[in-house]
Amino acid sequence: MTQHTAKLVFWGVRGSTPTLERDTWRYGGNTPCLELTAPDGTPFILDCGTGLRMLGNDWTSTRGDSGIDAQVLVTHYHWDHIQGIPFFHPFFEARNRFHFYSFQSKHLGPNSLRQVLEAQLAKPYFPVDLSMMTAERDFREISGGEKWEVNGTKISTAWLNHPQGCLGYRLDTTVGSVVYATDNEPGAPEFDASLRQLANAADVLIYDAQYSPEQLASTHKGWGHSSWLEGVKIAREAKVRNLVLFHHDPDSSDKRVDGFLSAARQEFPATWAGTEGMSITLSERGVDVALRGSRVGLRRRLRFTATVSGQSEDGSPFQEKATVRDLSLQGAYLCLKSRPRLQSEMRVVIEAAGDRDRSSMLSLRGTVVHCDPGREKSENGVGVVFIEDGEPSHPTG
Ligand SMILES: [Zn+2]
Ligand SMILES: [Zn+2]
Repeated sequence: MTQHTAKLVFWGVRGSTPTLERDTWRYGGNTPCLELTAPDGTPFILDCGTGLRMLGNDWTSTRGDSGIDAQVLVTHYHWDHIQGIPFFHPFFEARNRFHFYSFQSKHLGPNSLRQVLEAQLAKPYFPVDLSMMTAERDFREISGGEKWEVNGTKISTAWLNHPQGCLGYRLDTTVGSVVYATDNEPGAPEFDASLRQLANAADVLIYDAQYSPEQLASTHKGWGHSSWLEGVKIAREAKVRNLVLFHHDPDSSDKRVDGFLSAARQEFPATWAGTEGMSITLSERGVDVALRGSRVGLRRRLRFTATVSGQSEDGSPFQEKATVRDLSLQGAYLCLKSRPRLQSEMRVVIEAAGDRDRSSMLSLRGTVVHCDPGREKSENGVGVVFIEDGEPSHPTG
């Protein structure tokens, strides 16, 4: 089915190794994996980092029993770009077909990508062997400078400057172009020139911005990565329309990435920071960027009366009585006479004072995460994190 849009989804944006630290949640902790759906519906996967697992789950839940026929473009063989392969469910279903593309590594020889894939499932690295991976697979070895076409989407490549080699990809769809150039260190004239050529007038350039310009010039010179400042330079010189900072350092907190983004935006306003769940829709009208919902707490519909005060648009203060219609909640701290067991389930029902109406009652299921003697001798201080009512309290299997 041909549509007049192409859609790019970011399933993993983190460089080097996945992160789970809370201060990296907003941009996300999975390693590189992008999904591009061409206007004719052809799916492209760019890199197979840990984000690939979530893409697989998404396809499994949205595509039902219809077979998948996808193109998989791999930039290089560093862990962070291949580690999702064994955890991508669609590889384990015979009705699916995958066409893999990558380069011949001088360290691996012919059939490099096939070898990498087989090695990941070899004993003793993975519980099931390759015979379980029943999807049809074919492998094509490509090189920098190559061009080919898949169902109307033109693909071209360029070598990037990265230890053991890396390919940058450009995909020209009928509604716009995306350039994926991660894992690249600037400063080698030949590579710098071919990257600018690859990125020329692209609608979206996704570029390695792992380090700060200061780190790149000193402690991390020679590590094969880049900075937001280099991204801005390339975007300007190649007349790119949108720049996406990508491959965030595992030690970069959300706040640090915020800093890179705002610095880059001062130089090149159409800059975005790659975020897990972010999507970019390309059409004749240009690009449309969207982020997935960021609410982490539960939302409960209710009606509470609250007194709200703040500042109006014209700067004057206001105060009024208002009805709270929903509320996000993450957890609570309570004083209890009982001593609940850690990691056990608890229900907390909060009633609005003097009101027995159900709509002003908040019933929440939670799990106990903290319990210590309270200030009063007979009481315990109990921490609870709320969980969705539908969620199983114990993992199955
Ligand atoms: Zn990488
Ligand atoms: Zn790498």
